[in-house]
Amino acid sequence: MAEINELKQTIRDIINEMQNEEPSSIQTEGKKGIFEDVNDAIHAAKQAQQKYEQLKLADRKEVIAAIREGMQPDTQEYAEEIVAESGMGRVADKKAKLDLAIAKTPGVEDLHTEAETGDNGMTLYELSPYGVIGAILPSTNPVETLINNGIGMIAAGNAVFFSVHPGAKNVSIKAIRQLNGIINDVIGIDNLFVTITEPSNDKVNTMMEHDDVALLVVTGGPGIVKKALSSGKKTIGAGAGNPPALVDETAEVRRAAENIYLGAGFDNGILCTAEKAVVAVDEIADELIAGFKDEGAHFLTDPKDIQTLLDSTLVDGRPNKEYIGKDAKVILEAAGLSVQGDPKLVMMDVPVDHPFVMQEMLMPILPVTRAKDFSQARQYTLDVEQGLHHTATMHSNNIKRMNDVSSAIKTSIFVKNGSSFAGLGINGEGPTTFTIATPTGEGTTTARHFARRRRCVLTDGFSLK
Ligand code: NAD
Repeated sequence: MAEINELKQTIRDIINEMQNEEPSSIQTEGKKGIFEDVNDAIHAAKQAQQKYEQLKLADRKEVIAAIREGMQPDTQEYAEEIVAESGMGRVADKKAKLDLAIAKTPGVEDLHTEAETGDNGMTLYELSPYGVIGAILPSTNPVETLINNGIGMIAAGNAVFFSVHPGAKNVSIKAIRQLNGIINDVIGIDNLFVTITEPSNDKVNTMMEHDDVALLVVTGGPGIVKKALSSGKKTIGAGAGNPPALVDETAEVRRAAENIYLGAGFDNGILCTAEKAVVAVDEIADELIAGFKDEGAHFLTDPKDIQTLLDSTLVDGRPNKEYIGKDAKVILEAAGLSVQGDPKLVMMDVPVDHPFVMQEMLMPILPVTRAKDFSQARQYTLDVEQGLHHTATMHSNNIKRMNDVSSAIKTSIFVKNGSSFAGLGINGEGPTTFTIATPTGEGTTTARHFARRRRCVLTDGFSLK
């Protein structure tokens, strides 16, 4: 057994060495970031980053401005292509997310310098590039995350290897090619963003193990986040969530219904931040449900229909991939349930332990669960979020309660009296992000998180106090 393990280790070492070999004669010119081989792509990104970090901050700013200007006219086209290729979401919402990523992702201005001065002189803390970052992208916001991560990562002086999701490969490769063209036109550097033509899980693993990848930024489900965290590399992990929306008896109930409906139905519920279950204090639950119906929800009342929908959408305890991000109408019809019009959400009134409440479905299905009073609603809300440190919303006019829940739930995003997407900067203050680092704690990531914090000390000088 010991010999077999030794042999396995030797084989692993040889593979690692081969993977990290410097490719000698790879043609990187004119590739616009698209390579067959992971090793070649990372090599090209490393070369590009070494040139890029010699440039000035003004050049980075110019590049980012050009990206915003160059990508903006194409967001409708990208939105259509993402929906067509991934089979998920709604074109208008995809466009809104792309527009948001382009307009509200912070650039170089996000890199704040810190300084301390005293009798011994001055100490600076600066945010420097890591080098090549390995960014793993989800299928649910593929090009949105690519643009958002891309701007933040090059603002901090890095190059990026993008592990694009196979289910959104073509549109993602198109975006990487276009972005490289824009960058090249401004600073004459190609391959600051790279990827490969045929993404696969094995190739993600190769990238994660590559010596020249200094930081992993993973936006995806629990499996890949866990895998990256055990890679031994510094990892920013943005994982799954199950955001609850708590509505108490002091809330403006109709307004709460409107905001929750908008947030949960946005892009057919595939945003990790979108409301996935409503916890309503019983006193206002009927009025809230009436509000959802007025907004256009298709409300299932017959327990048999709810079970039929569950049987069709949850297979072996996991969401049926066929229906992730599909329109409510498509999901209902596929389950053999009748539906009129094009409702944004299918809703139902179920107990807190129902799978629709506890499972991140990533579908336009929004359960309402009743609590007898605020204290029970508070507990249910914590139960629904499951300690994922992701997102929660609350609708109330009681500041003490809002303070209490926001501090107890410990989510990266907490929205009061608004839609969940206010936490991403839509009708809410602050920059946007599509990578909300949950288990690793960075929260709503921006350029500063993609930088190495370095301490630089000058002794006995420059203290002017
Ligand atoms: P996913 O985990 O299926 O895929 C994410 C990425 O990881 C893809 O690029 C995929 O190719 C890669 N991947 C997946 N399994 C892998 C494996 N075993 N080995 C190597 N690579 C692997 O996620 P998805 O379905 O595309 O996205 C939805 C999930 O992501 C949801 O759970 C959602 O909550 C989460 N998400 C989180 C955030 C956040 O900011 N926290 C943002 C978007 C999505």
